[in-house]
Amino acid sequence: MSLWILVTGFLIIRFVFFAFGSYSLFYKGRNQRWISKKIQKKFPSEKMIKFEIRKSFVNLIALGLLSSLVLLEIRFDMGFIYKDFQTYGWGYFVVSLVVLIVIHDTWFYWTHRLMHLPKFYKWTHSVHHKSTNPTPFSSFSMDWTELLIEFGIFPLLPFLLPLNPLAISAFAFLAFLFNIIGHLGYEIFPEWLLKSKVGGWINSSTKHNIHHARFNYNYGYYFTFWDRIMNTSYKIENYEK
Ligand SMILES: [Zn+2]
Ligand SMILES: [Zn+2]
Repeated sequence: MSLWILVTGFLIIRFVFFAFGSYSLFYKGRNQRWISKKIQKKFPSEKMIKFEIRKSFVNLIALGLLSSLVLLEIRFDMGFIYKDFQTYGWGYFVVSLVVLIVIHDTWFYWTHRLMHLPKFYKWTHSVHHKSTNPTPFSSFSMDWTELLIEFGIFPLLPFLLPLNPLAISAFAFLAFLFNIIGHLGYEIFPEWLLKSKVGGWINSSTKHNIHHARFNYNYGYYFTFWDRIMNTSYKIENYEK
């Protein structure tokens, strides 16, 4: 219980730093410096932002529970956890990190599509889609059932492949950062990158923003490969803001 409180406290501080920090950098006073990067020209209402913040705090408690489970697995060397970095070295560390990202991206794409089915949508994903013009606070604005589905795979990961605690931490931070970036409301990836061959595989801020505005496209988290395979990508050139 005390671990859960401690971890939730950490998650709240991290969320406040990144979500409130990016909000004040980009949105406060409708900062003209970034205005050309704004994806939708309109700004969301204050009422909506307050709703997103309220929802986020509830979900950080749920995320605190999942994170505490992972920490307990590390503490008791459960699954394939290895603490001596030298056991597999740097090469494996990088590979394991990439594998974690691919597993999560696949898990997210398919559970996300499942939650868009009318049977499940209303009691899971509909809250997240109240944000049609996302802000950094939309990143955790969802029903708690959705949070447990999307991030519920985290405590299972140490049972799938050998993982060093550092790989788990780096992956968890990347997942958090990508969530904030996807809901930023501003495109922060440089244009040259997005227009390149590699950039086309990144699920950029604009792509997730389109998911919130158009609903039935761009279901991915980090990458676009599942959207490409399943033909659910939205053609950006057709997008009217
Ligand atoms: Zn979203
Ligand atoms: Zn969705």
